[in-house]
Amino acid sequence: MNEFDLIVIGAGPAGVQAALAASSSGLAVALFDENAQAGGQVYRAPHGGIPAHGEADRQAGDALRHALAASLVRVFAAHSVWAVTGDYRVDAVGPDGPLHCTARALIVATGTTERVVPFDGWTTPGVIGLAAATILLKAQGVLPGRTTLVAGCGPLLAAVAGKTIAGGGEVVAIADLASSADWLRTLPALVTRPDLLAQGIAWWRAIRRAGTPRYARHTLERVEPVGERLRATLAPCDASGRPVAGARRTVDVDCVAVGHGLVPSTEITRLLRARHRYERAAGGWIADIDRDGRTSRERLYVCGDGAGIAGAAAAAAHGTLAGLACARDLGANPSGVSDAALASARAAHERDARFGRAMARLMALREGHVQGIGPDTTVCRCEDVTRADIEAACEAGAQDANQLKAWTRCGMGPCQGRSCGDVAAELLTHCVPGKTREDVGAWSARTPLRPVSVAALTGTYTYDDIPIPKAAPL
Ligand SMILES: Cc1cc2nc3c(=O)[nH]c(=O)nc-3n(C[C@H](O)[C@H](O)[C@H](O)COP(=O)(O)OP(=O)(O)OC[C@H]3O[C@@H](n4cnc5c(N)ncnc54)[C@H](O)[C@@H]3O)c2cc1C
Repeated sequence: MNEFDLIVIGAGPAGVQAALAASSSGLAVALFDENAQAGGQVYRAPHGGIPAHGEADRQAGDALRHALAASLVRVFAAHSVWAVTGDYRVDAVGPDGPLHCTARALIVATGTTERVVPFDGWTTPGVIGLAAATILLKAQGVLPGRTTLVAGCGPLLAAVAGKTIAGGGEVVAIADLASSADWLRTLPALVTRPDLLAQGIAWWRAIRRAGTPRYARHTLERVEPVGERLRATLAPCDASGRPVAGARRTVDVDCVAVGHGLVPSTEITRLLRARHRYERAAGGWIADIDRDGRTSRERLYVCGDGAGIAGAAAAAAHGTLAGLACARDLGANPSGVSDAALASARAAHERDARFGRAMARLMALREGHVQGIGPDTTVCRCEDVTRADIEAACEAGAQDANQLKAWTRCGMGPCQGRSCGDVAAELLTHCVPGKTREDVGAWSARTPLRPVSVAALTGTYTYDDIPIPKAAPL
């Protein structure tokens, strides 16, 4: 048994900074992540020999990993956390099998899941998530395709297109749900981080130099295989993302990278029954937290994008804040955490969050976009549940997310609803008159939080070694 003052789950920028702040304030800290190295999604460590298509991210990730290595934080890398209990016992499976630790406090820094609003053909091989494309580019050094269509919304459009072009790939077109005016409206918030703004401008310049057309206010209507390639149909759409009348465009490519924003990962805080609220601009359901990351449950904190989408810079600042707040609450060291340290962490977080929240608004789920999903389109790809299945369940009486799950098995597959949950709940909300997303709710979180094999939990054994209890006396 490993006992700590604090366990942090998730070693992205938020989790690492939380662990470092708490550790340097005197707490004994354990940090878990399912990836082999810290860095999270944005500072993902590349595998050996991979050329870097984003030097700044690579350098930031290396700095974060060095700081962690030089600290007293006990890092459990390559450990998937599959259960957490109310007394802050954390169960994980790693390379050496199962492991459990306990702590006086828990910081959840588990980031987000990518959202893809389904369209005809979205499960065709060769169609991948925008955020998934960043993993290919960063960790594997692989282009998503020789010729790629980049579609969806938000800053990852430019990041994926820019990095693909820098890596020698061709981006045939960019289909953006947002208009140019939508982007311009974010400008006052973007100037608060000139370095990040400059990075975005550099990507858009590279895209323009490559001659890649950007179709503003366009949605991806359909993808179909044509020989060994994919034919994608783009449709003009209104501000809500609903396809409208007008000329359709088709492009032939060998990869479609599409993403419609990010959804905060709230499984652990929902499992622990912390209070949550629905906030569309922040990505959906989020834990109700105070300005330092404290949830409604004692000694349970959330930080980073899992607390509401605000980007990597804000995630790091939020992590520092939650780590300091936790150290103060636990009475970490005799001198304590100063008011000045907390005030400066709050100011840093507020500044960086302005930038990130402006980006997050561009990625918020659009009502008309969801309404454009066809009746026969698969919504839950694990269990093959279509929009028509969801509406049939609603007509038969399903009123909330958990009833929908029980009726249709939507969200019961290996991803446990992480991919489909947001869109399925939105569709149900539209079917039930007078209901809001708050009324429809979210699936109840369940263990295992990550797919885990029974063999990984039991280890290897032979049947002969299992003690057979004596028969009970009659
Ligand atoms: C696939 C993906 C790619 C992205 N790429 C980019 C990008 O290139 N550029 C960019 O600016 N933003 C990117 N984002 C957004 C980005 O995640 C954030 O802005 C930033 O990384 C948030 O930091 P964080 O620390 O809150 O979360 P993250 O960086 O997401 O870190 C969370 C960590 O928690 C771990 N974790 C979650 N659940 C468990 C569990 N049960 N057990 C163990 N570990 C767990 C994850 O493995 C992850 O390492 C991406 C998002 C996604 C989903």
